[in-house]
Amino acid sequence: DALRALLLSRIHDVPDYPKPGVMFKDITPLLADPVAFGALTEALAALCRTHRADKVVGLEARGFILAAPVAVSAGVGFVPVRKAGKLPGATLRQTYDLEYGTAEIEIHSDAVRPGERVLVIDDVLATGGTAEASLHLLRRAGAEVVGVAVLLELGFLGGRQRLQASLGDTPLEAL
Ligand code: IMP
Repeated sequence: DALRALLLSRIHDVPDYPKPGVMFKDITPLLADPVAFGALTEALAALCRTHRADKVVGLEARGFILAAPVAVSAGVGFVPVRKAGKLPGATLRQTYDLEYGTAEIEIHSDAVRPGERVLVIDDVLATGGTAEASLHLLRRAGAEVVGVAVLLELGFLGGRQRLQASLGDTPLEAL
């Protein structure tokens, strides 16, 4: 549809970044276009309302950029999930596997109340490792994850399949 075409037209392919053979999806042209950024924000805010989310969770770093205006538009709070070592308060930490080595993400222990409904937002779903770790982390923190929403899903990397078990009935929406 029109939204999809607009969003896709503002995501640029950058070959061989960050390393040879990788086609990087650059969303900075979308962020620089107020019409496209606004349409994306409103589509995500609509999801927020549909799923009756109490909070939106942004995944560092581009997830922050997308989720923050959604929180304001939907009238809900914003919670950051950060790379380890960045949050000042008491945190919960989740480790997950990368292609080479491991990564760690954190959330403030008191960032969500038990049973609070959260919508997770990130820019790109690639292998699904980041989203999977976030789901586990948020549930450990007591949240009810009511949806995972991304701007772009790289289907050929199989992220959706990887997330299937962790998602259960939780919808994964790619705009
Ligand atoms: P995954 O954990 O493999 O699904 O990778 C997803 C994470 O890596 C997200 O937080 C994205 O921001 C980032 N990412 C992976 N590929 C791209 C890309 O092509 N463009 C922008 N971000 C990407």
